[in-house]
Amino acid sequence: MVGRVVRIIGGFYFVEPQTPGPIVECAIRGRLKLKTQGILVGDLVKYTIDEDGRGVINEVEPRQSVLTRPYIANVNRVVLVFAHCNPDPIPLLIDKFLVLSEASGIPNLIVFNKTDLVATGKADKLANKYRSYGYNVLCTSVRSNLGKRRLLQEVKGKVSVFAGPSGVGKSALLNMIAPGLRLKTGAVSEKIGRGKHTTREVQLLKIGPDSYVADTPGFSQIALDFMKPEALAGYYPEFSAYPNCRFTSCLHETEPDCRIKGAVSAGLIAAERYQSYLELLAEVKGYWEKRYR
Ligand code: GDP
Repeated sequence: MVGRVVRIIGGFYFVEPQTPGPIVECAIRGRLKLKTQGILVGDLVKYTIDEDGRGVINEVEPRQSVLTRPYIANVNRVVLVFAHCNPDPIPLLIDKFLVLSEASGIPNLIVFNKTDLVATGKADKLANKYRSYGYNVLCTSVRSNLGKRRLLQEVKGKVSVFAGPSGVGKSALLNMIAPGLRLKTGAVSEKIGRGKHTTREVQLLKIGPDSYVADTPGFSQIALDFMKPEALAGYYPEFSAYPNCRFTSCLHETEPDCRIKGAVSAGLIAAERYQSYLELLAEVKGYWEKRYR
């Protein structure tokens, strides 16, 4: 039988069968233990059930992706959630989440939630700005169910991680598309077990046929400490239209004949995005220099 690992506790693997049925608690075949680097939540596995009803995992299917924060295999949708207001969107923070998401290589969707709290024109302006950078953007409201159908489509048949600052409505959106989850919403401090210093095992929650969502927000630590400075520009999708600067190692800062700077001066790349690139570049360089000093 084939199923997906949705939770791991103390050496036991909780596997949700692909065909509808209860979650099976599985051990891992000794031989497999030696062969694999370990099984992650999100892995697709082949398992058998012995006469006593105990499951044993015999094989792990090849992984499509591995997200490290949180540690989940086979995530194929990152939903980046921000709010139109309360909390107000902070462009640099948004870009940081976008960079982390692009670096993960997993297709993303930007959701601007709490659309009910702002005028339509203001909401459209924010959404269109990010569309012009090349992102998929959806405006939602949990109050009015705005965007519910499209969000459901976006996560259908996928393993999704919702990421974004706290208070933007990630849990409320998940409750909107999968009411059975009954996730707690409200201020962070009110959410039991979600405090800053509480470490918890990640778990996948089933929200539809072979559709899962992680119960923990993605990229909860948002330090860009793993990135090479020269990789950063590659995570700004609209920069890719301007390759071939004079220097192949161009960081688009002060180098001559830089095509990115040229595009910014010509108004082809938004000055705001370039400014955010420079700020994040300084951060990435700081980590990089500390590591190799
Ligand atoms: P999270 O920290 O991102 O998971 O945010 P929550 O889902 O806990 O939501 C934070 C607060 O925002 C809660 O008080 C929600 O009721 C409220 N909220 C969530 N979505 C909306 C929305 O679309 N409109 C409005 N007005 N409030 C919302």
